[in-house]
Amino acid sequence: MVIIMNIDATEKDISEVVNTVEETGLQAKIMEGAQQKIVGVIGDKTKLASVAIEAMNGVENIVAISKSYKLASREFHPQSTVIDIGGVKIGGAEPVIMAGPCAVESREQLLMTAEIVKKGGAQFLRGGAYKPRTSPYSFQGLEVEGLKYLAEAREKTGLKIITEVTTVEGIAPVAEYSDVMQIGARNMQNFGLLKEVGKCGKPVMLKRGLSATIDEWLNAAEYIMNAGTPDVILCERGIRTYETYTRNTLDLSAVAAVKHLSHLPIIVDPSHGTGKWRMIKPMALAAIAAGADGLMMEVHPNPAKAMSDGSQSLTGEHYLDLMEGVRKLSKFMRDENLAPLVA
Ligand code: PEP
Ligand code: MN
Repeated sequence: MVIIMNIDATEKDISEVVNTVEETGLQAKIMEGAQQKIVGVIGDKTKLASVAIEAMNGVENIVAISKSYKLASREFHPQSTVIDIGGVKIGGAEPVIMAGPCAVESREQLLMTAEIVKKGGAQFLRGGAYKPRTSPYSFQGLEVEGLKYLAEAREKTGLKIITEVTTVEGIAPVAEYSDVMQIGARNMQNFGLLKEVGKCGKPVMLKRGLSATIDEWLNAAEYIMNAGTPDVILCERGIRTYETYTRNTLDLSAVAAVKHLSHLPIIVDPSHGTGKWRMIKPMALAAIAAGADGLMMEVHPNPAKAMSDGSQSLTGEHYLDLMEGVRKLSKFMRDENLAPLVA
């Protein structure tokens, strides 16, 4: 539930409400609403049955939250969240672009790709050092060596780093080298991993599970937020449907749904969402038009030779062309005030 305070509620009124909630053993979080402060209550609200919160000074109204996720819900946190990562704002006015190879394959491959990614204007370099592959015989990633190459690329280009963590043991090394921890689709409901990654102090990007509903996805975000980090970014990367032409079906309607249900920023990954490099540009532009806060895309200097996901990787030339389109479209949307309504 959320306790909505009066516009003229004093700091003392608010702290008395918070103390009363906490004395019952529940958690209270103060949030800024559009005009007034809101106190979010987490836990079993029957514990508040004997306390007349609505009669306390400064309390305007109490609203129950019907959903099983709270911290991730827009009811709980009406303002859209903007996550500031060293000056790069995810969820702000400009779309944030994360680009790079599916996997870190070698120092040369990564540094070459990082230069292209930087030239196109992206803010983040992506690249898997721990790869969750369908077959145990496929390339599994360079692990810590790959993380070191990512850190070197950050030094050289100033790009921020996002890379996937696949195990609880991998959290410490990935957190040491990356700016954002990526949880992949296959681990979206690995609740043990979600609880631990939420404690590491770094922002987390949570990809949608292969067959996850939006409700399951937002509940997975709730696990991470409840463990400690408020900085969760969602990433739509396509879901399994009966369609076989594309690798997955990119669910762009999820962008509008998430914007309504949650305050968290959402990124779209048209590489994994389609599996086909030719479809990345149209789907990337459609994602921006739908209101996505950014894009994640795979880029490789030589996709034909990529150790994984070459068919859904852009060449440098195609990536630079796409970025030009993204810039024009976002400018048009800003100039014409076309940002979709969210609430
Ligand atoms: C990836 O981004 O490298 C990846 C493995 O994607 P997903 O988890 O969406 O399959
Ligand atoms: Mn990939």
